[in-house]
Amino acid sequence: MDSQIEIVLSALQARHIHGFYADDCPEANRKILSLIPSDATVGIGDSTSMRQLGILNLLRERGTRILNPFDPKREDMDAEEYRQARERLRKETTLCDVFLTGTNALTQDGRLVNVDAVGNRVAGMFWGHPLSIVIAGRNKIVNDLDEAFHRIRNIIAPTHFQIRAALGGRKRETPCVVTGECSDCRTKDRGCNIFTVIESKPSQTDLNIILVNQDLGLGWDPSWPQERIAEIRANYKKLVSLPV
Ligand code: SF4
Repeated sequence: MDSQIEIVLSALQARHIHGFYADDCPEANRKILSLIPSDATVGIGDSTSMRQLGILNLLRERGTRILNPFDPKREDMDAEEYRQARERLRKETTLCDVFLTGTNALTQDGRLVNVDAVGNRVAGMFWGHPLSIVIAGRNKIVNDLDEAFHRIRNIIAPTHFQIRAALGGRKRETPCVVTGECSDCRTKDRGCNIFTVIESKPSQTDLNIILVNQDLGLGWDPSWPQERIAEIRANYKKLVSLPV
């Protein structure tokens, strides 16, 4: 196991958060399936890392009920019906047996750092569910809080909004959609509304981190080789959710 990953797992343990190592996506999926009872209802917070694992199909195949506000629009729905269905599902995911999502960053000393526009994804990590499972690829590890905030503000958020608009998803009326850079905007359509840091196990939630030794989701250090960064971007584009 990579020494940095070992350090993170040990730091999580010291914070009473369960950290599990997975060498690859199949191993991560086996771990997640073992943590979630078959008859549980699982609420989803949007996560491209989660889609890259393919865990939702595996859960559905064994009969686990999934509440996913980010499922694509069904053909028999019009836009308004889809919006209402997503809103209803988002509320239902607030209180259910298990919450499953990904994290924007994970510090080497075991803190989860995230940004959200609505708040349902970050809240679900620490409230409303006896069991919460958060997926983190190795590329989500950062040295400390400063690096986490810097990476979220300057790489993850603007890149996400720009990619999503370019692929035909909702085009936020924010400068980053055009420039690809964050200007800490004050637009009404700002997406970076809520930042959270989980410092330790939430009192009423059993928090589990699945740390996968693969790049998943969006996030990189600019000093990494360009090929690695390009692959992270390309893989993200294939599976990012595109709400309109
Ligand atoms: S604060 Fe505004 S400009 Fe910066 S990434 Fe968020 S939405 Fe874009």
